[in-house]
Parts: sequence; structure tokens; C-alpha cells
Amino acid sequence: MISRVGIEVIDAHAHFMTYQTLKKWLSDGRSLAKIRERVSSHTDMKSFEIPHEDWDAGKMWIDELNRYGITAIGMMIGPETWEEFNRTRKRWPGRFLGYANINPSREDAVETVKQAAKDKFQGIKLYPSSWNFHAYDERVYPIYEEALKHKLLVILHFGITIGTEANLRFGNPLDIQKPAHDFPDLNFMIAHFGAGYFREMLMLMYQTENVVMDSSGSNSWMNYLPYALTITKVFEKAIKAGGPDRVIFGTDSCFFPRGFRVNILEEQYRAVSSICPQFCLAEDAIGKIFRTNILRMTRFKPAKIA
Ligand SMILES: [Zn+2]
Repeated sequence: MISRVGIEVIDAHAHFMTYQTLKKWLSDGRSLAKIRERVSSHTDMKSFEIPHEDWDAGKMWIDELNRYGITAIGMMIGPETWEEFNRTRKRWPGRFLGYANINPSREDAVETVKQAAKDKFQGIKLYPSSWNFHAYDERVYPIYEEALKHKLLVILHFGITIGTEANLRFGNPLDIQKPAHDFPDLNFMIAHFGAGYFREMLMLMYQTENVVMDSSGSNSWMNYLPYALTITKVFEKAIKAGGPDRVIFGTDSCFFPRGFRVNILEEQYRAVSSICPQFCLAEDAIGKIFRTNILRMTRFKPAKIA
């Protein structure tokens, strides 16, 4: 399947939100007004549609993928959307990668990693700053051990986040250096180029071998640095530091009616194509960033679609 930008694309980072997600938010005591306000002040969306009980989220996503020619998309999955997501992947095999949200403070954390492997998920997702733990904390190690047993990719969101409750004390990606050394056969993917900790991400490229970064989202963290950056410059630095094997495309798509963030695909494809001739030593570096790196790390078999 060829995407809007003329190459095959897999979006490695997105979120599967359903009616159950909304119910969970509200039961956690968040107010709809607050969510709306936060979305409008912290994202590029003027509004978002509240998931409805009748939503067929899987079908909505497949329609989006087909509209823009996206082969497959990787989704973060909480316990509340797990069942619906499982049904969705069975209906459309090879179109959805799954990553299970794992909160180390929950007693069933290791069990959930096991379940993710059983359900053929590709990875797990940890949110140190939202869930108040250091990624190097001892209590996270059994989670890494279980992930290693099943060769699951470990995704972490460090840095700034749209969630109001984030504690940046736990948000430094350098926290992953020790686990990365202790688990050399486990792959770690850091979301959004470190979401503000870009310097630290570049140093991790030098200091580790099994840490990669994803490019997902609007990368609005650039606005909170004391110097000017552009997405093109970010890719250039990232590729220079880690090579094209360690940068992975994602959109962080999550809400409707926005759906698949094709503007991010177009913007990032333009950026990568403009720098690769000068900085990418590898043949087909663009293909690696937009498709094959995530396949290599997850051994996911995408659907073959004409
Ligand atoms: Zn995300």
C-alpha cells in the first residue's frame, strides 16, 4: 500500500480511543470541560469529538488508514480498550500493532505484560512522569524481564505531556540508560524525540545501542526550549547522532474528527527527504524511518494490500 507521500508507511505511535476511554476519564474525576480546554490550549485541534457508545473505533481507523494509504498503525492500549482492540485486530489482521500500557504500581503489572504477549501485542508502554516512577526503579525490572521473555518493544514517554498530572522529575530519558545497559537484548523506544529532552536523547544515541526515538506528534516541545529548532533540524541531529536505524516515524494520532494526522506525515516526509541526501549513509534510509525500523524491532508482519 502506497501512502499519500508516495512510499509505504507504518505509523509506529498512535492511540486507540473509544467510548470506554471516555468513561474511564470521567470515572477518574476528569471533567469534560477541562479535557476540552486542555486539548484546545495544548494541541493543534480546535475541538474533538466525544467518543460515542455506538462508535466502531476499529472501522473508523481502518477507513482512515485506507484513505491515506497507511499500511499499519501502532496503538497504545489501556485495560479499558483492550477487548475492543483485540476484536479490531482480528477483523483486520496486519493493520494494527498493539502496545499495552503498563503501570508498575499496579499489582497485576507483570501479569498484564504476559497477557499482552499472549494476545500477540508488539510492545508495552510506560509513562514514568504521569505515573510517578523512575524508569530505572527496581520495581520496574520485573516488567523489563517479562518484556524480554516475549521480545516486546518497550516504549516510554518522557518529557512534557498533555496530561496535567505529569511530574517532570521522572521525565528525564537518561533514566533509561541503566535499564538499557542491563537489558542489552531489549529494545527501548522513546516517544517524541524525548519531548523536550532532545539533548539527553542525542547523548543516549552515543551511550546506548538499544534505544531508539520516535518522531511522533507535532513535537511542540520545540517551543519550550531556549533556542530555535525546526523539525528538519531535529531529524538532521537525530540521524547524525543515531543513524537512520534509530529514528522511527509516528504521528501520535488519537482523536476524531482529526483522525490520522496526515499533515505530520507530509511535514516529516518533507523534512527527511530534504536531509537524507546529505546525512543518510544507509541506502533506503527513508524507508527505514517510515517503515522497516519498527518492523525490525517488533517482527510485526504487516498486511499485504494492493
Ligand atoms: Zn502518544
